Amino acid sequence: MTGYPPEPWRVKMVEPIRATTREYREQALRAAGWNPCLLRSEDVYVDLFTDSGTNAMSDRQWSALMRGDEAYAGARSFYVFEEAVRAHYGYEHVIPVHQGRGGENILSRCLIRPGTHIPGNMYFPSTRAHQELNGATFHDVIIDEAHDPSCEHPFKGDVDLGKLRAVIAEFGPESIPYVSIAATVNMAGGQPISVANLAEVGELAHANGIPVFLDTARAIENAWFVQQREPGWANASIAEILLALCAVTDGAVMSSKKDSLVNIGGWIGLRDSELAEKARGLVLLYEGLHTYGGMAGRDMEAIAAGIAESVEEDHVRARIAQVEHLGGRLRDAGVPVILPLGGHCVCVDATATLSHLPRTGFTAQTLAAAVYLQAGVRGVERGAVSAGRDPVTGENRFPPLEFLRLAIPRRVYTRSHIDYVADNVIEVHQRRDDIVRGLAFTYEPRHLRFFQARFAPDGGETIFAR
Ligand SMILES: *Cc1c(COP(=O)(O)O)cnc(C)c1O
Repeated sequence: MTGYPPEPWRVKMVEPIRATTREYREQALRAAGWNPCLLRSEDVYVDLFTDSGTNAMSDRQWSALMRGDEAYAGARSFYVFEEAVRAHYGYEHVIPVHQGRGGENILSRCLIRPGTHIPGNMYFPSTRAHQELNGATFHDVIIDEAHDPSCEHPFKGDVDLGKLRAVIAEFGPESIPYVSIAATVNMAGGQPISVANLAEVGELAHANGIPVFLDTARAIENAWFVQQREPGWANASIAEILLALCAVTDGAVMSSKKDSLVNIGGWIGLRDSELAEKARGLVLLYEGLHTYGGMAGRDMEAIAAGIAESVEEDHVRARIAQVEHLGGRLRDAGVPVILPLGGHCVCVDATATLSHLPRTGFTAQTLAAAVYLQAGVRGVERGAVSAGRDPVTGENRFPPLEFLRLAIPRRVYTRSHIDYVADNVIEVHQRRDDIVRGLAFTYEPRHLRFFQARFAPDGGETIFAR
């Protein structure tokens, strides 16, 4: 019981979910090409596919929806939204977009020329895809510890300043449009960056005339880890730390579907007026007018209310505690999980769990299939399938980390759901030797292939021994 505060909310409305039989799940997974992404959500019992847009809104947010001003231009809801972003994130110019990748598209088009280079603290699939589509090459400058699943560094999202200096020296500041920083780092398992490190990144980049852009999708969860772990910040509020993180940067792209406790939406935050004008021009083309950016007025109201709730200490504490409860139970049962536990997810190290299978069999994808078959729990592969092929050589990329990610939606599941997941993942791990085959592509899409790829067991009817 220790260390798990009761949820700071009570349930007012329920959505029934359905347990299924093993036979049913086998049929469903086969029909989905062994890719849990392609399952119908009704065939999933506990859905830990993502924490993106899967949050439960509060009664305050639902009532804010009713205040949505759906005027095409200059809606009141836009100004409520703009004020909430300015107050909590500190950016002067707030440009709405339909979700994070809409903002990535706009920012990449504004800043990137072909042949340029972008250093960042580990890649994120949609972020890097937009950078590459616009002709840039991404360079991972995260500290080495981030690639070691068992290293308990408190800030595995930190940038290795030596690596950043080397990229600047090799390509020259003029061919680096910006430094791309995420807080927390999703692909490292929700690992935070420290305020001190981000400040050093800012200093180095700015000394070379290079701007720094922040991916703020989970910056509030990042702020929690700063408060808990970084010397000097224990007495600061989450809201104060969030402002401190953003203060170092020149702008941000936000997927509100994460921290902001809504189901859709996003924004670009900027300080430079000229860049903001350019971005607004592109938003008109790709998203919608610059006072709605692809969102309804009610979406912007829900985000504004969600931002205010998202920085409340008891919310963040309970949120992270739920993740820690799941991770702690797995760790204590000997399941290899990435440590320290991250902010939004628990990552099961698939290379360690299925060490008897070759990585060419996509071990994390295989583990995701096994966990779904076991209990109707859906996680997502984060490994070679997500990493895609090298744009130059065309070869599969096998990143150092290969894991099954169990991401926890905010305010959605109770402790008994989380314990159900833990019990079943532990059982899959204990019977891991029954898994004797990996998966092979039967259909491989060109971009973001993990979403739509289809697979079949490599050399048999199923992944299991029977
Ligand atoms: C989700 C996410 C994005 C992309 O945002 P969408 O709203 O899904 O388009 C970008 N960066 C990070 C870190 C994310 O988690």
